[in-house]
Amino acid sequence: MAPRDCKRVRRELLAECSGSKSSLAGILKKLHDESFLDTDMGGGSVRMLRKNLQVASEFYSKASTMYGTLVQTIDLGTPSLSKWEYVHPAAYLRLLSEISPGFSAMMAETVASIGHRPLKLVLYMDECTPGNPLRADKARSVQSIYWCFADWPQWALQKSSVWLLLGCMRSSLQAELPEGASTLLHAVLRMFFPSCSAIGNQNRSDFRHGIFLKNGTTGSDTYVTAAFAGMIGDLKAHCEVWCCKTAGASKPCMSCKNVVTVDFLNRRLSSEYLVDLKCGDMRRFDATTDDEVYAITDRLINAGIDNDTKRKELEQRLGFKTAPHGLLADHAVREIVRPIKHFLRDWMHMLVSHGVAGTEMALVIAALRQKGTTYEDLQRYAIGFRMPKALGKISKTWFSKGMVNKDSLKTFAGEQLSMLPVLMAYMTDIASKFEDLADHTRCLQLLTDIVGICALGPHDAMQHLNLMQAKCEQHHALFVIVYKGKGVKPKLHHLLHLVEDARDVGCMMSCFAMERKHRVVKKASLFAFRNFEHTITADLVNKQVQ
Ligand SMILES: [Zn+2]
Repeated sequence: MAPRDCKRVRRELLAECSGSKSSLAGILKKLHDESFLDTDMGGGSVRMLRKNLQVASEFYSKASTMYGTLVQTIDLGTPSLSKWEYVHPAAYLRLLSEISPGFSAMMAETVASIGHRPLKLVLYMDECTPGNPLRADKARSVQSIYWCFADWPQWALQKSSVWLLLGCMRSSLQAELPEGASTLLHAVLRMFFPSCSAIGNQNRSDFRHGIFLKNGTTGSDTYVTAAFAGMIGDLKAHCEVWCCKTAGASKPCMSCKNVVTVDFLNRRLSSEYLVDLKCGDMRRFDATTDDEVYAITDRLINAGIDNDTKRKELEQRLGFKTAPHGLLADHAVREIVRPIKHFLRDWMHMLVSHGVAGTEMALVIAALRQKGTTYEDLQRYAIGFRMPKALGKISKTWFSKGMVNKDSLKTFAGEQLSMLPVLMAYMTDIASKFEDLADHTRCLQLLTDIVGICALGPHDAMQHLNLMQAKCEQHHALFVIVYKGKGVKPKLHHLLHLVEDARDVGCMMSCFAMERKHRVVKKASLFAFRNFEHTITADLVNKQVQ
């Protein structure tokens, strides 16, 4: 029998436990008192056990590597964030390569498969709110930052436990930063590429210069270099990071100079140059360059307009906010940040999370209802399907009145993925008798094909990009005709850029894995009241390492 290691067992129990440390200490004490445990788990009292569990949870965050301690602090310039704790990226990779043979082998294989180019670093940033989703407590909202290499194998990119944690910060603290998420991402990039800032030019943990990971197979080190390949997130996160006015502004797309909203276009009827969101002809789009974005950033900062109204007018016209402390304002990071190329859209947010698929399914259901189809008809038809086990069961409430709005659905992204083929089958099976819905069916078929290609996975979808681009453009044109301009939202336009973004980063990214990872963050935050960032960072690192 292997020798008992109480410390290891405590760490493993913490990783498994979804309750608080106090409740776990109470359970252990009770089991011990009732003689169910023949070993003392470290302490005669609940208080002592609780203390030992706290020490166990911090074991990995205090681990020492050749790149320093795993969890380090950074001064972000505000009193509450003068010592923000984050997981040092180079130290984390080093530690994982030392303690996990599987991780070290995956890194060695990835580096060998890409030749001499650097790995593509992708950052993800989003907010989640712990607690009851129906009674969200905004005051406890947390901004989480995860990262990965786009070159990792497909299974790793789709697994939430493989995406690496960089840090968590209460949204209320992030709001104290001069430019919020943009200032935070600026600091995060300096953690990966410290030689881009004034701090330590010869920093040995700079991913551009390379870091050394342990290779468990050969016993030697694997040399890893990486370059920033982009940030992924929903459009709100992109707006905050790039300080652009994408969503809801007169210029809804940072990548296209001449794409404006319908309202804006109506005020400039004579313009040949401007197009609105209904335009799906990509040849008419005038692409913004990275240099133009930087020129606009500098222009807004240098304009020094004190008058709020005048400044907002200029910002509205240029499509960006004045952000002297934002990511793009720092000339030193401009050598690694390409705002247009690094604005990565993901198919989950474009299609099934308040996206095009939700809008289109709601419009199709409305069209069916005009033909006399009831919600009950759709529900009866839907529950006749048996989905593959991985997709879960069909719920008839998906097609109920309460879940379908005028041009959107209230269902979750995963549910919409299952609803789409069911509704498509209904259109071909039952609704084919309505001749004037033939174009609705064709349009929905194109959308189903697009979602089908994306769902193949980050790397498997790549071989169908030409087909997908063609389908996106056909779908866009048909959607505008069929629904006569109804439901035309910025995401319909952004969908046209999805293939371009996938080519840039080398895989078809989605945010499903990271959204699942939020559940772990929410669980960890539920019982953290003091030293919030410190507690949940230590807990999350312990869970991930286990
Ligand atoms: Zn665009």
